[in-house]
Amino acid sequence: MPSQRIPRAEIIAVGDEMTGGARIDTNTAWLAQRVEELGVTVAFHSTVGDNLDDHVQVIKIASERADFVVMTGGLGPTRDDLSREAISRVMDRPLKLDQVSLRHIESMFAVRKRVMPERNDIQAMFPEGSQPIFNPQGTAPGIDVLIGSDAVKVCRLFALPGVPAEMKQMFSEHVAPAIADAMPNRKTIKTAVMKFFGIGESDMEARLGEMISRTRSPRVGITVSKATISLRIQAIADSEDECLSQIEKTRQEILERAGDLYFGDGENTEQHHAIENILSEREQTVG
Ligand code: ATP
Repeated sequence: MPSQRIPRAEIIAVGDEMTGGARIDTNTAWLAQRVEELGVTVAFHSTVGDNLDDHVQVIKIASERADFVVMTGGLGPTRDDLSREAISRVMDRPLKLDQVSLRHIESMFAVRKRVMPERNDIQAMFPEGSQPIFNPQGTAPGIDVLIGSDAVKVCRLFALPGVPAEMKQMFSEHVAPAIADAMPNRKTIKTAVMKFFGIGESDMEARLGEMISRTRSPRVGITVSKATISLRIQAIADSEDECLSQIEKTRQEILERAGDLYFGDGENTEQHHAIENILSEREQTVG
């Protein structure tokens, strides 16, 4: 891992339900936040339907442009679960049976007093050269694998199940420590959000001037939704304290320029929260 550069990650969500819009992909949002907390910039999100060629393509592209790839979904036992086969094709390595994983899957069925369908064997198959990620809650182990050669660029890919509770535990117990270990000189990334009301986006941009330059550190980004302007401050530094002190300095600068329009902090703070606060300070209610 190059020590000077901030590593980049890609999250891949798998499933026709996501590409077709039937299910909201909450796993990607969760994973992206956890990965950024580790000091890795999440540069891309991809969503792919249950088609093998598309899987292969999306993994190839991700492994060429990202240092870490985290996939979620497609590890089940059915024919439309294609992640392990796609990874094995990208690596050009065959799938091999892992006895330890097979015994774990068999024991999951035994505990539930169910006969294991033959098809579930597939969940104990791993691309040669990869490492299984233990799944304490379910029958789908994850896959931890290096893609590419040292001479070109190596990407570390983690494939996790789609079931959110399984995915989250496996991320916290295996993926997060693995990413942290792979980055001895890692940076910390912290983000703070400030909310404003009563001005248009262009006028806010004019007030902030050079503060929103893409090369500024910490970086300040603007988004607008429902007449609320959100300013997102992202600091990247050697420690959490350093990030927080950089964010605080930038916050003060922003307040000097637009403090008259500011109403609160945090991604989920809305105008009605600010109104509630004012009313409770005044011991007033609205009927
Ligand atoms: P697995 O690898 O665990 O078998 P899968 O792709 O086969 O994953 P499904 O069987 O389609 O997963 O879904 C299992 C459950 O996980 C569903 O209840 C679904 O709601 C949830 N799920 C799968 N992917 C996501 C996602 N990206 N965001 C939120 N929920 C998801």
